[in-house]
Amino acid sequence: MLPFSDYHMHTPLCGHASGEPQEYAQQAIKIGLTEIGFSDHAPLVSHKDPGITMDHSQLPVYLHMIESVRAEFADELKVLIGIEADYIPGYEDKTKNILAQYPFDYVIGSVHFIQKWGFDDPIQMKEWNIRDVNEVYRDYNRLLRKSALSRMFDILGHVDLVKKFDFHPTEDMTAEIEENAHVFKKTGLVIEINSSGLRKPAKEIYPSLHDLKIYCAKGVPITFGSDAHQPKDVGCDFDKSRDLAIAAGYTEYVLFEKRKITRTVSLL
Ligand code: ZN
Ligand code: FE
Ligand code: FE
Ligand code: ZN
Repeated sequence: MLPFSDYHMHTPLCGHASGEPQEYAQQAIKIGLTEIGFSDHAPLVSHKDPGITMDHSQLPVYLHMIESVRAEFADELKVLIGIEADYIPGYEDKTKNILAQYPFDYVIGSVHFIQKWGFDDPIQMKEWNIRDVNEVYRDYNRLLRKSALSRMFDILGHVDLVKKFDFHPTEDMTAEIEENAHVFKKTGLVIEINSSGLRKPAKEIYPSLHDLKIYCAKGVPITFGSDAHQPKDVGCDFDKSRDLAIAAGYTEYVLFEKRKITRTVSLL
């Protein structure tokens, strides 16, 4: 069975997505999904960047916008209200304050920054050429574990986003991933199978089969997300995402409401 819920999609409020939320909902219905969750980029806590996230003043606009989509499509589609929040060490209290402002259905925690470097930002891509790629991978995985231990999030987003531009380590990172799995399990976190990597230079779902096998063996649950930044990408490549999950050993995924797992759904 294909997953019927897509938990990762954006709105134009983040400054780099297009299409109205209604169009995302319509696309979901068109391809046979019965549940979607919006997870737009929460206001950045460390600095302002209107090309990356909404501003603080726009959070009520976001909530109102998704609430009205939820009401409009109530008969045909379950619409959840989530958010994707950056993990930035030192800003935990500020992040918690933002997340406490609304009873979200789930919070996706994402690492997009290593110190001040937006390593997945196309504008900052040159930085990769002067960095030690092995160091970058270790720093990234360390931040993932810190983000889990902050206990602010329900789902961790694209847990090998560091491969986005197709730079790969020369050293084996298996021990890092095993340590991640241990920490994610201990902190009760869920990870997402995020198909957007297929649309990026890495041309691979996040996370890789290698990593996903390790997470599955530890018993870390999964959700599915397209990370759509335009309506046509809703539910994109969910057949490949499902196949990957099964190849890694998963037989089910989880659903959320009000920041709790409410249901487990079979993939078989
Ligand atoms: Zn985005
Ligand atoms: Fe992200
Ligand atoms: Fe996203
Ligand atoms: Zn994302």
